[in-house]
Formats: sequence, structure tokens, C-alpha cells
Amino acid sequence: MKKIKSNKKNLTDIYNALFNFFGPQHWWPGETPFEIAVGAILTQNTNWGNVEKAINNLKKQKALNARALHEMPHKELAALIKPAGYFNIKAKRLKHFLAFLSDHYGGRVERMRGEDVHALRHQLLEVNGIGPETADSILLYALDKPVFVIDAYTKRVLTRHKLAPEKATYHELQGLFHNNLPADVKLFNEYHALFVMAGKHYCKPKPRCEECPLRVFK
Ligand code: SF4
Repeated sequence: MKKIKSNKKNLTDIYNALFNFFGPQHWWPGETPFEIAVGAILTQNTNWGNVEKAINNLKKQKALNARALHEMPHKELAALIKPAGYFNIKAKRLKHFLAFLSDHYGGRVERMRGEDVHALRHQLLEVNGIGPETADSILLYALDKPVFVIDAYTKRVLTRHKLAPEKATYHELQGLFHNNLPADVKLFNEYHALFVMAGKHYCKPKPRCEECPLRVFK
């Protein structure tokens, strides 16, 4: 894997500017590790408001637990998560994850905590429909593992500030953080959430640099 050149100072200064501007984000929204893992799968290609509606539907049916979802027919699950979009595909992905969870961890996300982070990441990536961003979101937010989550907002900010090339891969971008920052769950948690805030409000497809807390770094 290629290593992107950067230094700790750039990344620390950007973090401090975002934190001072937006304040702590206290991510991820979710009451249990299981709910966080389900949310990480449902949030693929949609916004969080839609995921919340889908999760509320599951809660209303008292179905937000591994056993109920594992036993629920595909059609019923797809109907309940419809607000999250791509509901047939996401129902299949949830079923794959639930089968994995049931086979390896007795249906309990918490039981994954004891595993080595690299082994666990490898296992999650083997599950059909779980890619690096979803796997890393589960590792960081549901399991408190120090793994940096890269999303489209993060990539956009980094490339616009010339901290990473346009063609950088997920793992090269992740390496930038892993190689330059301490492996700190709280820091990785806040930093990713702050990139989302910057991307949603300022670093949009048409950037609003003049009002952005990162304008001083351009
Ligand atoms: S909006 Fe402009 S200043 Fe803000 S992060 Fe994007 S490129 Fe940087």
C-alpha cells in the first residue's frame, strides 16, 4: 500500500479547527452496539434521517434484536426498512450480517469485542455487502476499536486541501490517519463525525469556502 505524505500537524490543526467550530459530536446515534451495526448497514447510500425512520419501524415492531431480525421473513424486513432506500438489497445485507453474527458470536455484537481488530475486520469484510466503510463504522462505533472511518466527505476535504491525491484508495486515506495520529477511539470517533459536519454544511459539491472553518488552511 502506498503511503500518502502528510504530517501530524496538518491533521491535528484541521481537527482542532473543526472541533472548536462545531464542538463535540458524540457519535454514533444508537442505543446499543447492535443498533449501531444495523445503522451502519442501513446508512449505505442514504442520509441518516432515512435510517432513523427505518430503525424506528424496527423498534415499533420490537424487532431491533438479532433473533427477531434473523427469523423475520425477507419481505417483512424489506418493508420495515423501506425508508432507508435500496430496501431489498439492504434486507439481504442485514440477513448476511445476522447469519454471520449468529454463526460466530451467538447473535451478540458485544462478543466481537474480544477479537483482534485485524482478524475482526477481515471477518466483517468477508460478509456479503459489508465494505470497508461499513466494517470500520462497526469496529469504531459499535466495538470501540481504533479504526479510522473514511467516507466521501473525508476524501473530499483531504483532496481539496491537497493532503491526498484524487486517486487515493480507501486504505491509503485510512493510512494517513493511522500513521499520523495516536490510535485513540475518542479522537477517531469525533474526527470522522466532524468531517461529516464539514462536508454536509460547507465542503459540498460546490464548496462554501468563505464561511468554512477550514478556509485558513487553503
Ligand atoms: S469548503 Fe473549502 S475551506 Fe472548507 S473544507 Fe471544503 S475546500 Fe476546504
